[in-house]
Amino acid sequence: IIRMEGVNKWYDSFQVLTDINLSVRQGERIVICGPSGSGKSTLIRCINRLETVQKGRIEVDGIDLTAGGKNVDAVRAEVGMVFQQFNLFPHLTILENCTLAPMRSRGMSKAQAEEVAMKYLTRVRIPEQAHKHPSQLSGGQQQRVAIARALCMAPKVMLFDEPTSALDPEMVKEVLDTMISLAEDGMTMLCVTHEMGFARSVADRVIFMADGKILEQAPPQQFFGQPQHDKTRQFLGQIL
Ligand code: ATP
Ligand code: MG
Repeated sequence: IIRMEGVNKWYDSFQVLTDINLSVRQGERIVICGPSGSGKSTLIRCINRLETVQKGRIEVDGIDLTAGGKNVDAVRAEVGMVFQQFNLFPHLTILENCTLAPMRSRGMSKAQAEEVAMKYLTRVRIPEQAHKHPSQLSGGQQQRVAIARALCMAPKVMLFDEPTSALDPEMVKEVLDTMISLAEDGMTMLCVTHEMGFARSVADRVIFMADGKILEQAPPQQFFGQPQHDKTRQFLGQIL
């Protein structure tokens, strides 16, 4: 459902992504890890074109993103994204956060969008918070709203960029549990995370990035059991 071929990206003269080739099948769960500054966020932000690339090709669900134009809107509607810092609209209620995009870009009526929103808020187990504002919720609750908001668009792919790293430890589990339940439902997921327990139990494939390159990728058992690169071993040694 995602295909990146020969993707290269520079910030001025600094090369942030080098020759990225990555294919993701529908229903696959990918965990991306690697040192700070290795290009993980940049890589997944390219998949919904929050970042553009100078060289290479990115296709999502058969739509060529690098062609630009209408394709970008089409892809964004299919790809949900959850950020480290939640990125909820602070002046809107939880319900309004969830109904905005479906009303604007899926053409849903307010009633329809609210019904869908309540379904997903129930799914992430916070329907009772619907009429509050983000600042009235805990970090873990806000992140679950961010997940519900993305799901309201019925995305084909979900991207997560360190969704638990801004959370207090006691709230990490509730967000990971929500992600696990999404995975169990067959959602295609790319998750940048250092939660290696999650990687072990949920990922079909773990990708290790360093210096803008994919250094290795393998199923979790192999990735953790027999890492191939010194840099991978060093990284795992630091975080496990
Ligand atoms: P972290 O684990 O800290 O989130 P990361 O692997 O997500 O790191 P990126 O955020 O993708 O790394 O950044 C990769 C590199 O690109 C870093 O060296 C960063 O300084 C640089 N970079 C990121 N955004 C920009 C920008 N807008 N302009 C210039 N350089 C940038
Ligand atoms: Mg990052």
